[in-house]
Amino acid sequence: MSTPSNPEKQQALPSLQSRFTLAMPQDPIQGIGMRQVNDAMYSRVLPTAVAEPKTLLWSRDVAFDLGFDEAFCSSPVFAQLMSGNQLFPGTAPFATRYGGHQFGQWAGQLGDGRAINLGELPGRNAEMLNLQLKGAGPTPYSRGADGRAVLRSSLREYLCSEAMHFLGVPTTRALSLVLTGDMVVRDMFYDGNPQKELGAIVCRVAPSFTRFGHFQLCAYRGEKDLLKELIDHTIATDFPDLLLTAKGQESGELALYLRWFEQVCRLTADMLVHWQRVGFVHGVMNTDNMSILGLTIDYGPYGWLDNYDPDWTPNTTDAQMRRYRFGQQPAIGQWNLYQLANALLTVVEDAEALQAILTDYAHYYEQENLAMMGRKLGVQLESNEVDADFLAELEAVLQLHETDMTLFYRQLCNFRPENRLSEVVAAAFYEPQSLTLDCKNRIDAWGEQLAQRIRSQGQEPEQRKAQMQKTNPCYVLRNYLAQQAIDQANLGDYQLLHELEEVIRNPYTENPRFERFSQKRPDWARDRAGCSMLSCSS
Ligand code: AMP
Ligand code: MG
Repeated sequence: MSTPSNPEKQQALPSLQSRFTLAMPQDPIQGIGMRQVNDAMYSRVLPTAVAEPKTLLWSRDVAFDLGFDEAFCSSPVFAQLMSGNQLFPGTAPFATRYGGHQFGQWAGQLGDGRAINLGELPGRNAEMLNLQLKGAGPTPYSRGADGRAVLRSSLREYLCSEAMHFLGVPTTRALSLVLTGDMVVRDMFYDGNPQKELGAIVCRVAPSFTRFGHFQLCAYRGEKDLLKELIDHTIATDFPDLLLTAKGQESGELALYLRWFEQVCRLTADMLVHWQRVGFVHGVMNTDNMSILGLTIDYGPYGWLDNYDPDWTPNTTDAQMRRYRFGQQPAIGQWNLYQLANALLTVVEDAEALQAILTDYAHYYEQENLAMMGRKLGVQLESNEVDADFLAELEAVLQLHETDMTLFYRQLCNFRPENRLSEVVAAAFYEPQSLTLDCKNRIDAWGEQLAQRIRSQGQEPEQRKAQMQKTNPCYVLRNYLAQQAIDQANLGDYQLLHELEEVIRNPYTENPRFERFSQKRPDWARDRAGCSMLSCSS
């Protein structure tokens, strides 16, 4: 990846701090023993050494944000730091305590079971960025598990979080992926077939890793003072603008807390609008996997829609209930916010006001979703009421025949009112030879409705197309591509992986070199493990 570094010239290691540990109470007990932690937000814990760390991937953009140069990221010291074998100066690593609702049930204390926080650094734009090693060994929150991660799941996290970033979706980032040189045993499908897999550690980066579950556990345990401290700290560090009361705004603590909760609801809704725009299914929207900043976090059994199917979820653990299916994600976002509101109620003693904000979430989501759909279709939509039939028919049209979501919208950018829609989007059909005349007619009838709107709005066609292409990506991290890259990487071949790393950086611009990455899912990948079905094992 780079020329060997000259140790004399190597940049000085920055010192990491943590405002979270400075402000929050620490668990007085030392060591990694499994325990319930009360009245404290974190435990001190050191990463467990690994055998032979080697940097497989590092993100030049995240490195740049952090002020790390190429020589440093290519050096053996970097691999030691990113595996936890060596610590940055001033680092006092820690694992945080949180709880959560898993698949609708309260699950009690969870916490950073295999994520170890190193601390934070100011990024280029002055925002503080936290570094967290995922897979760096057990913590008091590991609940009997090993605290490790395998290459397969680490690659999925690294690639997808970077892909999401370049798609414009709020997300945690990935600085690096280090192979540990150790093997990790996983029973991938929980079917009594454990295998040794290559161990890996991803260094995640985000302004904050605080989750809904951090607040929930304080409330569940009746730790009212601690909950208040956490809210105050979160507002001060992650929402400082809220502390500047604007003219005409109510002052006082309660008003501040309500404004903050409203902001959390809006950030969550914004994230969900993006997920629905690009066809991303998170797969495990438990409240412990919901970021207070509305960032996509914890890439587990996620997937991307190939054929448009709102009932689809990639997560085999959820195959029966389909709680976290694509079409239900926005509603689950609201359910999760209800759980957060319930927790906040201990401190923010105004149930009616919280309820009003939650109700507003639904309106806000609908409004933002409508604007987003307008951008995808290249027309100005009027309102959810006026456009209800038009949008419902689009949903139906996308499901008449197996239709690739990404290709459909990308091809739609080329649609002109004089065209037949079924011809323009032909590349999106999975079995074009079996498309019936009835189907074609219905697709074309909807196309005619779209054409009328385009005509009446009179936008210049090339301008309309250019705008649509900024909303409708041609490259997403297709499930089967990620799986192929993983299969090859497990055999020591990283070519596809490096190609994918490049492809995801420019998802809205066609590149003839990358044509194969925009193709629809091949038939062999339809029901293949890893391509359409994933378990939580990682
Ligand atoms: P997840 O389903 O990945 O969001 O994880 C749920 C909880 O299990 C979190 O508290 C994780 O930290 C923990 N966890 C998952 N995998 C492991 C592991 N291999 N070792 C320790 N803790 C884990
Ligand atoms: Mg999680």
